[in-house]
This record gives sequence, structure tokens and C-alpha cells, in this order.
Amino acid sequence: MNIIENNIKFVQNNIEKACKKVNRDPEEVKLIAVTKTIDTERINVALKTGIKNIGENKVQEIMDKYDKIECDSSWHLIGHLQTNKVKYIIDKVDMIHSVDSVKLAKEIDKRAKKINRVMDILIQINIADEDTKFGLAEDELYSFIEKISLLENVRVEGLMAIVPYVVDPEEVRIYFRKMKEVFDSLKKSSFNNINMNYLSMGMTNDYMVAIEEGSNMVRVGTGIFGERDYNK
Ligand SMILES: *Cc1c(COP(=O)(O)O)cnc(C)c1O
Repeated sequence: MNIIENNIKFVQNNIEKACKKVNRDPEEVKLIAVTKTIDTERINVALKTGIKNIGENKVQEIMDKYDKIECDSSWHLIGHLQTNKVKYIIDKVDMIHSVDSVKLAKEIDKRAKKINRVMDILIQINIADEDTKFGLAEDELYSFIEKISLLENVRVEGLMAIVPYVVDPEEVRIYFRKMKEVFDSLKKSSFNNINMNYLSMGMTNDYMVAIEEGSNMVRVGTGIFGERDYNK
């Protein structure tokens, strides 16, 4: 068994453990393999080992890799997206996790309309209110949603957050919990065109805590492919 296959088994096993702890069905949790800086050969190994969803940060990397990926996989854009780059990925990705401005949502809507599709998006929330992170502030959320619920070619499918990196993931449990509260309150509200099906949170260091707090989409890179080499 190769390392990637081994790592995937390990992560899947941990997902099951975290679910068991809080009485959730592991089938509810989608594992997204984060493939930034990872070459297509290694991505293809992961896809052969049962990975179905891959997450990339950069538009350029999606464009470079798109034709070299063998399996019928779903692409997720998880990094910050500039408005002027939407046109390059609108026909390639299945979900955009990082929508945090009306301007960006409108551009996605416009480009999706042109190719006659509806793009699934998540709203990124800067839940720990960090200066260095993208995402909406919690108090901007409702007015943002009112505006984008009118767009016909984007469909809000849930929320996404990137929490601060800490050595002990227990320290960020509070942010995952807050996200779940926002998610649940939006689920109860009846905005047109706004679904709360996915809560994308948790990375290698903290995905088990995120799952315990209600995440159903974890984005794991290092835990599957090992440390990234940004120099390549
Ligand atoms: C890189 C990245 C991840 C994965 O990080 P790991 O710590 O390697 O698991 C998840 N989400 C986003 C938005 C990322 O940029």
C-alpha cells in the first residue's frame, strides 16, 4: 500500500471516530482532498483510492491540472477568487467555497448564466475576525444574503470558514461551534434560493474537532499528501 493510500485510510478512519463520538453518520461527511502544489500523478493516485472531491486554491493550478486528471472527480475552488478570474473556472469547478462579496457573486452569476448553468457556492465567513483572512464578518451576513438570494445562476449551498491555525485544535472549537450556530439559524430562515446543506470547515490539524462540532465537509491536504513543497 502506498503512502497516499495509507493516509487516506487514516483520515477516513479518523472521520469515523469523530462521528462516532458525537453519534453522527460518517456518510454525512464529505472529504475534500486539497491538492494545491500537488502534481497530477499524485492526485490521480488519490482519486484511484476513492477520493471523489478535490480542492484547489488557485485558478491557475486548476487550469494547469484540469486536463491531466483522469477520473470523473468534482473540483472545489477553496481559495480566494478574484472577480476577473471567474471566467476561467466557471465551466470547470463544481463548487466555489470562497464567496465573500456581492461583486464576486454577481460575476459568478453572470458567467454561469452565459454557459447556462447554476453554480453552487458557499459563503465564506471570517468567524474569528482575523485581519489576515478573507470572508464576511458575521454581522454582514444577512444583508449579503438578501442581495445574493436574487441571483438566479448561483445557488447558495452553505457556509465555509478557515479558522486560525493553532497547535491544539481544542482552542478553535469555539469557532466551529459559532459557525454551526450561524448555519443552523440560517437553515431556519426562509431566504429564497439559500440552502444550508454544507458546512465546510476543518483542515488537517483540526478536522476531527470540526466534525464533532457539525462540519460535513472537511478540506484535508497535508494529512493526505504530506507536507507541501511551495518551491516546486
Ligand atoms: C491549504 C488549505 C486547506 C488544507 O490545509 P491542510 O492543513 O494541508 O489540510 C484547506 N482549506 C483551505 C482553504 C486551504 O487553503
